Amino acid sequence: MSVSQFKSFMECEARTLAELRDEYTRPHSSALTVGSYVHSAFESDEAFGQFINDNYNSIFKARGGKYTDFEQADRMIETLKKDKFAMFALEGEKEVIYTAELFGVEWKIKVDNINHQRKIFSDIKTTQELGKRYWSDKYSKYVSFVEAYDYVLQMAIYREVIFKNTGEYYNPYIIAVTKQNPPDKAILHFDETRFDFEKEYVQMHLPGVIKTKNGETNPVRCETCEYCRATKQLKNTFEIEFLLD
Ligand SMILES: [Zn+2]
Repeated sequence: MSVSQFKSFMECEARTLAELRDEYTRPHSSALTVGSYVHSAFESDEAFGQFINDNYNSIFKARGGKYTDFEQADRMIETLKKDKFAMFALEGEKEVIYTAELFGVEWKIKVDNINHQRKIFSDIKTTQELGKRYWSDKYSKYVSFVEAYDYVLQMAIYREVIFKNTGEYYNPYIIAVTKQNPPDKAILHFDETRFDFEKEYVQMHLPGVIKTKNGETNPVRCETCEYCRATKQLKNTFEIEFLLD
């Protein structure tokens, strides 16, 4: 199991299973490429160069110059590189893989940045605005982008897997940078009590996820994602009240 696979199962079991069985591929998202571009810039010069080579046609216009998204991404990279505290938080080993058993399942994580001297790990997250509110069914309230994208869950799992490997609880940090012009930025830490909720949440949902993954139960369709919309067959009517469910 990985954090992204667990998150994907929580979004839509049917789509995730179809992806795992190579029956469906999610459409290419440019937001994802921009995030990877920013990440690779802080990984190493080689990684950044390789990323640009691999995604040349997504980054550069045929007539020359970069697409607007990547000009923006360059400003985001510059913003962080000019900030001494952000660069301090990003000091460490890059892209380190750990595995450990959690809740009876083998997990694999890839930590963007880990610093064993300071016992911290950190990750860059790009977002629209630091203070933007998102409705969350999981938390039953408006939340920040950090909860909305399940980054607290990610940090909680990473913290446990790192603990199983090192015997120490490391502190996670998010280096947030916005897609505004000029970009805003922040270094975020977490109240430790948040991790207990996330661990209980994973523990509660993991058995169902594993059953679905092993083909022991039928995958639940979310009926709203691109996969579900593309494969939907109508069988019934429903009362208008359920439109907002
Ligand atoms: Zn779906």
